[in-house]
Amino acid sequence: MPACCSDKTNAENCDPCNPPEVSCHNEGAVVSGGVGGDVISWFSDMVDHCYEYACTEKKKGRKIVGIMCEYTPRELIMAAGAIPVSLCGGSGEMIPAAEHDLPANLCPLIKSTYGYSMEKANPFLEMADLLVAETTCDGKKKMYELLAKRHPMHVLELPQKPDDPEAFEHWVYELQMLRKELSRRFQVQITDEALREACREMNRERKLRRDLAALMKADSPPMTGRELLDLKSLISCIPADFEQYEKAVKNLPGRQITPATGKRVRVMLTGVPLPHNAERVMDIIEDNGGIVVCQENCTGIKPLIEDVDSEAEDPLRALAEKYFHLPCSVMTENRKRLDLLRDLAVEYKAGCVIELIWQACITYEVESFHVRQMVENEMKLPYLRIGTDYSPSDSARIAMRVQALFETIQGRRNR
Ligand code: SF4
Ligand code: SF4
Repeated sequence: MPACCSDKTNAENCDPCNPPEVSCHNEGAVVSGGVGGDVISWFSDMVDHCYEYACTEKKKGRKIVGIMCEYTPRELIMAAGAIPVSLCGGSGEMIPAAEHDLPANLCPLIKSTYGYSMEKANPFLEMADLLVAETTCDGKKKMYELLAKRHPMHVLELPQKPDDPEAFEHWVYELQMLRKELSRRFQVQITDEALREACREMNRERKLRRDLAALMKADSPPMTGRELLDLKSLISCIPADFEQYEKAVKNLPGRQITPATGKRVRVMLTGVPLPHNAERVMDIIEDNGGIVVCQENCTGIKPLIEDVDSEAEDPLRALAEKYFHLPCSVMTENRKRLDLLRDLAVEYKAGCVIELIWQACITYEVESFHVRQMVENEMKLPYLRIGTDYSPSDSARIAMRVQALFETIQGRRNR
């Protein structure tokens, strides 16, 4: 599968639903056998499963809709009979192509996403009937203007000041516009009942993934943070994935892995999301004596915390409520993120907080001031900020900083 691999394939020259044989295994992933291990193996082939699913469903006439932020309600797309696919780029190999059009000093996530389009290397992007472009940070917003030259796009305007009395009504209006656009473009009526059903499905998936995340509260978690990070899919609510999530919830508790997770430093990871193939910092943390017990970010628990009231009289407003509460640094002010972080650190018994910030991510970078203050002064926990991009050139330096942090923590424990 070309979408996630270092083996690039030019999707232009191949039938997107009949791809060449290209291996797509995530080499950094921990694949374990035994109890629960089969589930972890299943998700190590996640991109292949998504590809197969998307192709099969597309042949049946379903539409593919690309999304690039957790603010986009997948439920609305599903209620239109379409398939939402997450398109955020995690490959550094796509960046040189992107830099033909985009400045080098831009977030790697933005450049990688755009580079996939330049290289026509992400079949999900190539088969997408529509992209939903969320007005998050400035870099993404302006990149979308270039991406729109190649792909059909609907811009979804996010609230910028969530505490403003008008903000929620404006957000409801934006979701109404998205609903209209999906109906018009795909010639379907999005009924309230279809929306409710999609909310039930997404609630079911969120609950299963929350239950998996909660396993990390154990003194000896039954999996690594990296394994948990891999237990998710670019496409939500695939029936075969539901089976695997259920199996994992049943089989993973009590699983023993080596080195024992109970002896490692418990890390709360916050900051930017880690898209597929951009898990390097997580691996460095866990290869150097840590275990990421909780990820308070958009590839972690943040989008899973709240469900949608699927039985509400107005399901669109109920949907708007859930997504409105997502505490992202692109909002001002964003106190709710700090509250969430504090609560999660206690719940997951974090021994320190590591904040990951992609190069040139101004919003998370500036917000790290508040995060550091709260973690060090209020929570009295060690804090480390790691700023990097998708290139492995600084891995040794990051590993040294992480080791130094863990040595300090272990030293304090020993004293
Ligand atoms: S971090 Fe913010 S901009 Fe990025 S996916 Fe999450 S909500 Fe969207
Ligand atoms: S990581 Fe930061 S700069 Fe990059 S897309 Fe997300 S919010 Fe924008």
